[in-house]
Amino acid sequence: MLKKILSPETCAQCRLCCQFDATDIWELPVLPPETLAAVQKLRPDTAFISSGDEHTFASPALSGEELFACPVLTECGCGLSSADKPFDCKIWPFRLMRHTDGSCVIAVSELCKGVAHLSDDALRQFLTEEGLADLCFAYARSHPAHIKPLMDGYRILL
Ligand code: SF4
Ligand code: SF4
Repeated sequence: MLKKILSPETCAQCRLCCQFDATDIWELPVLPPETLAAVQKLRPDTAFISSGDEHTFASPALSGEELFACPVLTECGCGLSSADKPFDCKIWPFRLMRHTDGSCVIAVSELCKGVAHLSDDALRQFLTEEGLADLCFAYARSHPAHIKPLMDGYRILL
C-alpha cells in the first residue's frame, strides 16, 4: 500500500516495526474479527485482550529495554498475508488519531526513518492522490477502535 514512499530496503535496515517496548506497546495493532480469525488460524495459542469493540494482542508487562515481538512476526517478516494484515500495519507509519477537538485525523509517526525525507506536504499529497486518506477516514468510521489518542511523536497531516 505504501510502496511508493517506503522502500523494502530501508525497512530491512531499520527493523523497528513489529517489536514493542513499554513506551510503545500501545501501538500493537487492533484486530477486527476477520483479522483475529486469521491470527487464530496461524497461531492458535495467541492471547488477546479487548480494544474498544475489537481486540489486540495480549502482552506481558514490560520494563526497561524489554521487547515484545508481535505474535505473528516471523524471521521473514509478518506471518499474515497482505490481505490479512491488520489495517493499522498496512498504513503504518500513518495512524488514525483522535484530535483534542474530537475529530479523527491522520498523523505520521516521527520514528519512521523510511518517510523522514518527505515533507508534510509530500505526505499529504501521497495520502490524497493515492486515495489513502479517503480509505483511512472510511475505515475509521466503521472501525472506531482503531482511532488512537493523539500522542507525542506524531504530526497531524490531515
Ligand atoms: S519504522 Fe518505517 S522504515 Fe522502519 S521498518 Fe517500520 S516502516 Fe520501515
Ligand atoms: S501483524 Fe504483522 S505487520 Fe503487524 S505488527 Fe504483527 S508482524 Fe508486524
